[in-house]
Amino acid sequence: CGIVGYVGSKPALDVVIEGLARLEYRGYDSAGVAVLAEGGLAVTKRAGKLVNLREALAERELPPGTAGMGHTRWATHGAPTDRNAHPHVDCSGSIAVIHNGIIENFAALRAELAERGHTLQSDTDTETVTHLLEEEFAAAGGLAEAMRRVCRKLEGAFTLVAVHAADPDVVVGARRNSPLVVGRGDGENFLASDVAAFIAHTRQAIELGQDQVVELRRDGVTVTDFEGKPGEVTEYHVDWDV
Ligand code: GLU
Repeated sequence: CGIVGYVGSKPALDVVIEGLARLEYRGYDSAGVAVLAEGGLAVTKRAGKLVNLREALAERELPPGTAGMGHTRWATHGAPTDRNAHPHVDCSGSIAVIHNGIIENFAALRAELAERGHTLQSDTDTETVTHLLEEEFAAAGGLAEAMRRVCRKLEGAFTLVAVHAADPDVVVGARRNSPLVVGRGDGENFLASDVAAFIAHTRQAIELGQDQVVELRRDGVTVTDFEGKPGEVTEYHVDWDV
């Protein structure tokens, strides 16, 4: 339902939670965050409102990472429980994924993944993407290329954002039939399902096109199509109030 990603120099958790709060008007049934730091990947998620997530975070000291992402879920596949909340983490505990939309061919993908030895921990369509990224990551040589390879196997509507513990300065996004906007800041960059999430930080936005993947770093943004060719994007200034 709501998606926020951040890479910069501020504490990512604060930026992400604030962004999710700005997307609360959309309605949701659970919420979660992932933060990347030198120590690895830290994920916290809870059924219910953001206040539940905030309480869970207060009980737990998250590393002060400067890259991360957050999600508010409107369940389509799997009950609105802690377990089915996003982010979803792969078997190695290194990759986390959040998703808006529906992966239409998830049943076939789940069956194939189970056959290849993956243990799926949720009832969501989303979790298939996490395990597919795990399979592609090593051969792809990076998260953005892994995402391109995985997107070519997916059917349906999706905005996806993923992080990998091995690369704590990168957040990768992808979209098909579902919106994803980049916010360009000074030494920091944002990803969101809606500009409302980052408008307090920057009004310089890039609207991603259909079937594009974006690699977000502190000092730059790289956009390609699902095959890896440079992507054409529309850059604009958000001059309305949200
Ligand atoms: N289909 C996914 C799920 O049920 C994503 C739902 C959403 O768009 O929030 O978990």
